[in-house]
Amino acid sequence: MNNLSKYVTLYVIAFVTLVGLSYAVYQFSTQSIEFQKQILVKQAQTHYFDQINTRKWNASYGGVYAFAKVGEEPNPYLKNNTLKTDDNRTLIKINPAWMTRQLSEISNIKDFHFRITSLNPINPNNKATPFEKKALEYIEKTRENEYYELSENNQFNYMGSLITTKDCLVCHEVQGYKVGDIRGGISVSLDSSEYNQFVTDTRNKSFLSISLILIFLSAITFLIKKQIANNEYLKLEVEKRTKEIKLTQELLQQILDADLSLLIVTDGDNLVFTNKTALDFFGLNSLEEFKDKFQHISDIFEKTDKKDFLQQYIDGQYWIDYLQKQHAKELKVLIKKDTQNRYFKPHAKKISVENETLYLIIFNDITKHYEKIQQLKEEAARDTLTKLFNRGKFNDVLAQSIVLSQTTLSPLSIIFLDIDHFKTVNDTLGHNVGDEVLVEIAKIISSTVREGDFVARWGGEEFIITLQSTNKAQATTLAEKIRKKVEGHTFKSAGKQAISLGVTEYIHNESRESLTDRVDKALYDAKQSGRNRVVTY
Ligand code: GH3
Ligand code: MG
Ligand code: MG
Repeated sequence: MNNLSKYVTLYVIAFVTLVGLSYAVYQFSTQSIEFQKQILVKQAQTHYFDQINTRKWNASYGGVYAFAKVGEEPNPYLKNNTLKTDDNRTLIKINPAWMTRQLSEISNIKDFHFRITSLNPINPNNKATPFEKKALEYIEKTRENEYYELSENNQFNYMGSLITTKDCLVCHEVQGYKVGDIRGGISVSLDSSEYNQFVTDTRNKSFLSISLILIFLSAITFLIKKQIANNEYLKLEVEKRTKEIKLTQELLQQILDADLSLLIVTDGDNLVFTNKTALDFFGLNSLEEFKDKFQHISDIFEKTDKKDFLQQYIDGQYWIDYLQKQHAKELKVLIKKDTQNRYFKPHAKKISVENETLYLIIFNDITKHYEKIQQLKEEAARDTLTKLFNRGKFNDVLAQSIVLSQTTLSPLSIIFLDIDHFKTVNDTLGHNVGDEVLVEIAKIISSTVREGDFVARWGGEEFIITLQSTNKAQATTLAEKIRKKVEGHTFKSAGKQAISLGVTEYIHNESRESLTDRVDKALYDAKQSGRNRVVTY
């Protein structure tokens, strides 16, 4: 329903209610006034019927005789108007009309009086007043029994008809009256000031009630109208704000989705939000699918032994707590996409949304960067010519091997080898051929050692091999095997070549230098004692 319809409905309801209530008030007041008026009528009727009965009584005796009051003359309009008593006293005749007149004179008090009259009275003093004339004419014309009205001077005037009976003809036949004619009536006058006061009060109260209803309805209508306008304003405001929020949400979502990082929001355990990049990464369509696939976010981390890779618990701390600390800067996460390794740098940020603590976890894809670093590290650890590890890397590996040997009490041996008379190769066949020889020998060594043995170019035409879990006897056997392979190999451009080898085993708690010095001595002895041989210390 639009606002115009609401307003129209409101006004119609208000108007109908006003009319309805006003009508009810009017009806109530009118009925009250009418009821009050009927009391006046009843009062007048009671007086009227009193007189009728009294007259009937008098007429039933054909008039009554009574002693005249002092100075009272017999009624000249009546036949047999006097009667002598036995004691010679005179009684005068009193007919119904005279009786009524006398009674009316007695009743002529302030609040009430009545009298008998007709349009054509025998007694000229009994002439009808204007009201009586009007009432009698009305009764004569309509054949109604009564007529009444309120006069302006606080009087209620009532006229009840008198029907001509046989008794009346005694006097009135001369006037042409017939039985059944209505030629006169008894008029009753009552004080109506109380009634008038009641009418005034009732009308005032009605007016006041209707005024109050009008004020009340106007106030209610005004308030409802204001409420409708306010509701409309609020509705528009809500629509506006909702649109703004939706736009902001869409914008944020697009920004977050445009981010190449995997964005995840969690309450610490459960997933609350992911961006599209994260869903696309795992080939999922919705947050729900994400939740179904991974119970915990940490389930996406590949397990690895490497210390700098994030796991569900790291150093005894939950990964999110650990991530938030500064020392977590260098952490990485390994996540598998299909079968490929993808590397991420994780960040965690605590955020508060409506008193709820959430964590924004960002995984920046550093795969290319990480692999490049790994490649550079690898390259930095290798000798460019032979592709074997270099001395720097060898020193690291040897140091780790010593630690392992120390802790596990397992044997550790090393072989140090040097090409015999290599200077002659360079000098006679050229430096490039010398290089070729170095490469071929590196290949022979690499293909002869076991998996887990570590071969490095020590420098120049010298190579060194670390043999974990190998004692010097086993190492000597391997050294001899290498020597023989070189001896038996025919080099592409340099024909036959030979190598000398020194072998030794790590002695518990000795230093790395002590170990390498000893193997160096062994090699030196191999050279000194004729070359193309293995010397073990
Ligand atoms: P010995 O049997 O006593 O070991 O004699 P040798 O000639 O092998 O020993 P020496 O140390 O005198 O000579 C080593 C030579 O190796 C010297 C150097 O020119 C050569 N050399 C070192 N590094 C390289 C390299 O990368 N390429 C080539 N072609 N020659 C190298
Ligand atoms: Mg040398
Ligand atoms: Mg040499």
